[in-house]
Amino acid sequence: MDEQKKTNFYVATAIPYVNAKPHIGNAMDYMLADTLARYHRSLGDNVYFQVGSDEHGNKIAARAAEAGKTPQEYTDSMVPAFHEMLTALNISYTDFVRTTEQRHEAAAQTIWRQLEPYIYKGTYQGWYCVGCESFVTNKQATANNGVCPDHNQPYVQLSEENYYFKLSAFTEQVKLALESNMIKIEPEFRKKEILNLIKDGLDDISISRPRKNLSWGIPVPGDDGHVMYVWFEALINYVSILGYPDSDLYRQFWPADVQVVGKDILRFHAAIWPAMLIGIGAPLPRKLLVHGFVNVAGAKMSKTVGNVVDPIEIATQYGVDAFRYFFLRHIPTLDDGDFTWEKFETAYNNELGNELGNLVQRVSSMIIRYQNGLVGVLDPAVHDTMAYHAAMVELRLNDAFGEAWSMVRQLNVYLEEVKPWQVAKGGEAEAGHLSEILSYAAGSLVHIAELLAPFMPATAESIKTSFSADIVQPTAALFPKIFNHTQDPRAAKPVAVTAPAVPPTPPINNG
Ligand SMILES: [Zn+2]
Repeated sequence: MDEQKKTNFYVATAIPYVNAKPHIGNAMDYMLADTLARYHRSLGDNVYFQVGSDEHGNKIAARAAEAGKTPQEYTDSMVPAFHEMLTALNISYTDFVRTTEQRHEAAAQTIWRQLEPYIYKGTYQGWYCVGCESFVTNKQATANNGVCPDHNQPYVQLSEENYYFKLSAFTEQVKLALESNMIKIEPEFRKKEILNLIKDGLDDISISRPRKNLSWGIPVPGDDGHVMYVWFEALINYVSILGYPDSDLYRQFWPADVQVVGKDILRFHAAIWPAMLIGIGAPLPRKLLVHGFVNVAGAKMSKTVGNVVDPIEIATQYGVDAFRYFFLRHIPTLDDGDFTWEKFETAYNNELGNELGNLVQRVSSMIIRYQNGLVGVLDPAVHDTMAYHAAMVELRLNDAFGEAWSMVRQLNVYLEEVKPWQVAKGGEAEAGHLSEILSYAAGSLVHIAELLAPFMPATAESIKTSFSADIVQPTAALFPKIFNHTQDPRAAKPVAVTAPAVPPTPPINNG
């Protein structure tokens, strides 16, 4: 134990339900958590970064049946796509937990037993679709005029014996935890939202289904006739991955420092999960980072509309760091954001290409041209990073990214002002001055790269490598121009050298 004590940092992501391929929401979870994980590693913290998959329930069983597979075969076939996305987006996770793994099922059953003082049997009555094998709310039943749209079959009234979790018993403790910021919800308006939702108290919730109506789930301990409701046991993944209840990892890393969740699952993470933890006597997570949705040109992404953006497609076309750049900087961390191909490509060409790529290229070629590639002693180039670190701590990752980016812009302005290419014309007499300028520029770039590293790890590494040796290491051009969705300004210039023989066809007027 001589080793200097490090701070532990545990960041967790919501686990996706594997009945569909991974989407942009999953990518946001992964990238936000990855940025925090990388940032905390750079501070010297011991970081644990969880990811995983949610694999039980009727929907999975139904999909498996359609595909002619067992549920386990089906989830086995779906999980690799999530691993592919994690790799494609350069996500530095520690471990991946599947809710079908023995370690998870064991932890879920342990927690069920620990919660038994708050679990009772009751009868659930409501509308039910036999085809879906699931209950629907009154609201849904009314909205669908009493007929299941998937099965074209009228809903029936069914009563079912379920186990209930006495969530109501935890209302005051959960409220207190949220109000006192024991669990700090970022952003603040989400905290108000959840407090408003629970102001009249929490209702008890059904946490099991009879096995005859739901077979694909974790057995309720001591009652073979029931399995756990999928979302109830899925929440347990945050501790099952650590080996709850008796493991060094659990003791070392729980409670989570940050749980990253989408706004649609706030209630599960800010009310139900804390109640479960209080019920088992475990500490509460310290912070919830609640991110919004990514819209496309102001509209919700939807398969029926056909405006779904595929993260892997973007990362493949423009590079993983370009993908991370846009979604971590131009999508607000704590609110909804908007994607269009035009916005994306403009940011790619103007910001990544011009502001950063050209800057690196310029400094590197001046060092080669004026100093035979000798980098010299790097100016430590200390920039004020207070706002950057403050934004990181407050989970405004896009603002932290913006702070680092403003240093990129300042360095461009600096070079335009001091004009090293002019200074170079002064020859021997100006050599000292010139080398000071280039040392400052190279030193700044290395410092900026450190600040960019949690967001764009590969780019940051390549910048650091370029300027951290005695001789500048030229790298391939960063972010070469792409014009798939926008107009190349060079091509837009009129080329009037030879007039076309045939006048262009006038646009067809349909009006
Ligand atoms: Zn149905």
